[in-house]
Amino acid sequence: MNLGIDDLPVRDELRGKSPYGAPQLDVPVRLNTNENPYPLPEPLVERIAERVREAARDLNRYPDRDAVELRTRLAEYLTNTSGHEVGLANVWAANGSNEVIQQLLQTFGGPGRTAIGFEPSYSMHALIARGTGTGWISGPRNEDFTIDLAAAERWIAENEPDVVFVTTPNNPTGNAVPPETVLALYEAAQAAKPSMVVVDEAYIEFSHGDSLLPLIEGRPNLVVSRTMSKAFGAAGLRLGYLAAHPAVVDAVQLVRLPYHLSAVTQATALAALEHTDTLLKYVEQLKAERDRLVAELRAAGYEVVESDANFVQFGRFDGEGGSHAAWQKILDRGVLVRDNGIPGWLRVSAGTPEENDAFLDAVRALKKEQNT
Ligand SMILES: *Cc1c(COP(=O)(O)O)cnc(C)c1O
Repeated sequence: MNLGIDDLPVRDELRGKSPYGAPQLDVPVRLNTNENPYPLPEPLVERIAERVREAARDLNRYPDRDAVELRTRLAEYLTNTSGHEVGLANVWAANGSNEVIQQLLQTFGGPGRTAIGFEPSYSMHALIARGTGTGWISGPRNEDFTIDLAAAERWIAENEPDVVFVTTPNNPTGNAVPPETVLALYEAAQAAKPSMVVVDEAYIEFSHGDSLLPLIEGRPNLVVSRTMSKAFGAAGLRLGYLAAHPAVVDAVQLVRLPYHLSAVTQATALAALEHTDTLLKYVEQLKAERDRLVAELRAAGYEVVESDANFVQFGRFDGEGGSHAAWQKILDRGVLVRDNGIPGWLRVSAGTPEENDAFLDAVRALKKEQNT
C-alpha cells in the first residue's frame, strides 16, 4: 500500500508540509549550507579522539545532565571574545542552536502564543514555531533587506507576540542589524506584552561588528543564541548555546529532555573549545574570502547585499526562469549555491579560495551568457 504522511492522523498544522532540507547533492563545489569549508585540524581531531575515549569509559552512566564543564568553557569563550563577563549560570547548551530555539519556544511560546520574525530570515524559526504549536507572524523588511523599524514596532504593538526573533547577521541576506534597532525592538516587545527577544547570532564571529551579548545586562527577556556549527567548523557536532539572565537558563530546564547532551557531544565540544585560537584563524581567512566574494561579484556586475556573515546574497536574476534558472546554470558548472526562494536572489557560502574561484568563474560566465 502506498501510504503518505497525509494518510496518517498527523496534526492539522503539519498536513501538506515538507521537511526542512537543502539539497545534499554530490557536486564538486558545495557552497549552499554556510558550512565552514575547512576540516578540523589534525591536532584537534586527535584531541577529540582522546576525550571521546575517556568519555567512552563512562558510557554506562548518564552524562552530566547540566553540562557544567562545557557551559563553564562556553562562558569563558563568550567573556573572552565579547569583553562582557558571563558565567556558568548565564549559559545553556543543546544539540545545535536549533534545539536551543526549540527549547525557548517550548518555554515561552506554544499553543495560544505567537512568535514573530522579520522575513526573509532563517526559515527554521518559523518551522520550529510550527513544531511547537506556536503561531507564526511574518514581519516586514525593507526592499534592501534592512528591518523597517517603524513598521516592525507597529507590528509588535498590534500583534503582541510572545517571542521576537532577530537574526543578526541575518540569514540568508547577510546583513547585520544595528544594536539601536535591536534595543528599540526590545523596548517595543516589552511595552506590548512583555515578551522574549531572541537574538540569533549564529554568524556573529564573521561580522565586521561586535556581538550584542553585552545587551543581556539588565534585560532579562533578551536571549543571545550561538552555535559551534559555523565559526567553529563543527556543523556535524550539533552544539548550540545561549547566553541570558540565569532565570532564562533555569526556565528552559523545565522543557529540556533529561540528559539531552550526550557525553560524546560534551567531550567533543570541550576538545574543540581547547582549540579556539586555531579555529578562529580560519574565521579570519573566511572573512577575507567573504569580502573578496562581495567585491568580485560587484565587479562582475551583480548586486550584492552587504555581508557580515560567511555567505553572500547576490542577484538580481529577474530574467526568464528567475533565480531558479540561474541556480541550475551555476550547478551545471559544478557549483552548488542556495536558492532560498527569494525572487531574484541566490546565496553563496564562502568556501576555500579555490572553491570561491570556481564559483566566481561560473557566475562570470553566466553574466556573459546573459549579456549575449
Ligand atoms: C545555521 C544557523 C543556525 C545553526 O543551527 P545549528 O542547529 O546550531 O546547526 C542557527 N541560526 C541561523 C540563523 C543559522 O543560519
